[in-house]
Amino acid sequence: MGATAEPGTRPQIVREVRSATAAVRTCEAPAVFAFAPPDEGADVSASPSIDGIATCPAGTPFSFEVYPPRNEAAARSLPETIRLLASVRPEFISVTYGAGGSSHASSLDVVTNIVRNTEVPVMAHLTCVGSSHEQAAQMIREFLDAGVRQFLAVRGDPPEGSASDAALGDLRSSAELVQLIHRIQAERAPYREIPVPGLPHASAVGRRERVTIAVAAFPNGHPRSHSLEQDVDTLLAKQAAGANLAITQLFFHAEDYFAFAQRVRDAGVLFPILPGIMPVTSPARLKRMLELSGEDLPSDLGIRLEVEPTDEGRREIGIDHAARFAERLVAGGAPGIHLYTFNQPHTALAVLERCGLIDAVPTS
Ligand code: FAD
Repeated sequence: MGATAEPGTRPQIVREVRSATAAVRTCEAPAVFAFAPPDEGADVSASPSIDGIATCPAGTPFSFEVYPPRNEAAARSLPETIRLLASVRPEFISVTYGAGGSSHASSLDVVTNIVRNTEVPVMAHLTCVGSSHEQAAQMIREFLDAGVRQFLAVRGDPPEGSASDAALGDLRSSAELVQLIHRIQAERAPYREIPVPGLPHASAVGRRERVTIAVAAFPNGHPRSHSLEQDVDTLLAKQAAGANLAITQLFFHAEDYFAFAQRVRDAGVLFPILPGIMPVTSPARLKRMLELSGEDLPSDLGIRLEVEPTDEGRREIGIDHAARFAERLVAGGAPGIHLYTFNQPHTALAVLERCGLIDAVPTS
């Protein structure tokens, strides 16, 4: 769909999100997408669940986030985590970078594991934190060398305790990182001339391989943003820099996503806004997530988790809540779902099973 096209129907949007991944696989320039608002007259507060079971339309795109292992035991279990997640053929698996103390090398290791051992496209998160221009360029080259063609460019946060943004490095925003990734990729993509059939002495300039670059979006505003307008402007800047997808920070109220998606679309943001969803299976994790994201407590989920006495019961509550949330978002126009797996594949896969997007959770 071109930049001026009208928003499409759900199947059309599903095809477009899929074509973004297909474009990367076949090394064509990625398409430009439009966020599909809820259908005219659709009641997004109503759930289309059948008999109380959450369902998403067949073919709804889904993807996963994993993070590099933080200890030996986690490193041993990660290959199996990746195998399980890859076996249900997500659109991509994204790998965080630098978050939670992980190093550049550990992120690259996980990315390389996915490239070598699966057929699933990998999306490498990159941040600008602490890098000079040269270091950032070198880091991008290493990920391109590893076979990465999808990135999530984020600014990253200054190290804890650092009072100013001086520690951020040469690149001051994720938009600058988006531009740098495109520039490095363009340097490497060979210039090609294609013969024009019927015109023996003519040639056309071949289309260069492009990368897909996702960016972060904040339905309730970035914690350091002064206003929601600033967040909209930041997203427009990311689009101008060449981003073609946004993935949201955690949020717990579907209306926040719908309002944000509509606001940025009205402002001229054309790429899809993929909602990030995390199955929250304990009060402790919920508390931690609220601290990290600055979101308001979803009181229904908080109470249910608090009163449930067993681990198994809390896991069930988290899965059920995430599945219903996903269903509601997709019914309201979200172009797919991105699951923060917390490296717990069975929980993330159980959410997809509950949504009807996979037949069964694959066994280890
Ligand atoms: P930018 O686009 O550069 O800016 C974001 C917002 O911050 C803007 O709205 C801007 O208004 C506001 N802002 C920035 N600086 C200031 C300031 N000084 N004063 C006022 N407002 C300001 N972090 C990691 O380290 N590794 C990861 O792998 C990672 N993955 C992520 C994945 C997703 C999907 C998301 C949503 C976040 C992720 N993050 C990660 C966190 C991210 O780095 C932080 O949220 C960071 O603070 C913002 O990154 P950005 O790319 O949105 O920044």
